[in-house]
Amino acid sequence: MNRVDYLRISLIDRCNFRCQYCLPQGAELDYVLQQDLLSQEELLNLIKEVFIPLGFTKFRLTGGEPLLRPGVIQLVEEIANLSQTEDLSMTTNGFLLSRMAQDLHDAGLRRINISLDSLNQETFDRIVGTFGYSRWQQTWEGIQTAYEVGFAPLKLNVVVIPGINDGEIEDLAQLTINRHWHVRFIEFMPIGNPDLFNDRAWIPSEELRQRIRGKWGLIESRIKGNGPADVFQIPGAKGTLGFISQMSECFCDRCNRMRLSADGWLRPCLLNETGQIDLKTALRQGIKLPQLKQQVAQLLEIKPNINFQQRESGTDRGISHRTMSQIGG
Ligand code: SAM
Ligand code: SF4
Repeated sequence: MNRVDYLRISLIDRCNFRCQYCLPQGAELDYVLQQDLLSQEELLNLIKEVFIPLGFTKFRLTGGEPLLRPGVIQLVEEIANLSQTEDLSMTTNGFLLSRMAQDLHDAGLRRINISLDSLNQETFDRIVGTFGYSRWQQTWEGIQTAYEVGFAPLKLNVVVIPGINDGEIEDLAQLTINRHWHVRFIEFMPIGNPDLFNDRAWIPSEELRQRIRGKWGLIESRIKGNGPADVFQIPGAKGTLGFISQMSECFCDRCNRMRLSADGWLRPCLLNETGQIDLKTALRQGIKLPQLKQQVAQLLEIKPNINFQQRESGTDRGISHRTMSQIGG
C-alpha cells in the first residue's frame, strides 16, 4: 500500500486568470468569503498537530492562484521552517512571479511549477482569458525571474487541449533542450468546464510522445519525480519531459496525496469526495486537534478504496462540476 505523505493545500480559490479548461466560461463563481478561508493560524495548527504527526512531510501550495493569498510569503516561511517538512513546493500561473519570486525563494521555497499552456500570445490569451491586455509577457517574465532566482527544478505545466494548443507540443518540448527546465504535459481532465469536455477533449500522452520521438527521439529519463509523471528526455537535452496521463493510464494505485481546500475541506481524491472532512467547521465548533487527527487517520485507512474510477459519486457522467481552482489542483 502506498504511503500517503503529500498534502496539496489550496490557499485561495480566487484567480487572476480564467483558464477555459479550469473555469466554466461566462459563469460567475461563488468564491469563498475571506472569513471562510482557513486562517493562517488554523492552517499551521492543522499542519503541525494533525498532518505531520500522521506522516505528511511533503506540502504543495496551490489554488486558485496561491500568490493572491495575503501573507503567502510568511506562510511559506513558516512551513519551510518546520523541521519535519521534507519538501515544499508551489503551483502558480506565474503572473505575479516577476515581483514575488525572490521573496518566495528567500522564505525557503525551492520548487515551483508554473502553468504555461502556450508560447503564442494569442493562443495564451485565448486560454487564460483577455483582460484588456495580454498577460503572456508578464507571465513569461515571471518564469525567467523564477529561473534566475534559482528555483530548481523549474517545471512548466501544459494542459493539452485539441484544437487549441496541441499544435505547439514540439515548440514547448524544445524548451527543455538548452534549459534545465522540465515541461510536463497534462491530459485534460473532466473537471470544471463540462462544455469543453467531449469525447475527444484530451489527447493520450502516448500520442504526444510519438510526435516528439518522431522529431528528436525520446529516452526514459533517469531523473524520476515522486509524483504521477512519467519522465522522458530528448537525447542530450538538459531538461526533461513529463507526461501526466490520468485519463489514459490510471495511477490511483500510486496515489500518495490528499487535498485541503481553501475553506478547509480535506479530500482523499481529486474526483471522488467519499469521506471528505470539513476541518474548518470542526475547528470552529471547538473540536480539538487530537480528535481531528483521529478522524483524518480513519480517512487515511479507507483512502486506498476511494479512487478516480468510482468518480460517479458527486459527478454527472463522470464530469465534475467543481473546478480545479475550487478543489485546489
Ligand atoms: N493557478 C495555479 C496554476 O494554474 O498553476 C494553481 C492552481 S491550478 C488549478 C493547478 C493545475 O491544475 C494547473 O497546472 C492547471 O493547468 C491544472 N488544471 C486545471 N484544470 C485542469 C483540467 N481540467 N485538467 C487538467 N489539469 C487542469
Ligand atoms: Fe487560475 Fe490556475 Fe485555474 Fe488557470 S488553472 S484559472 S491560473 S486556477
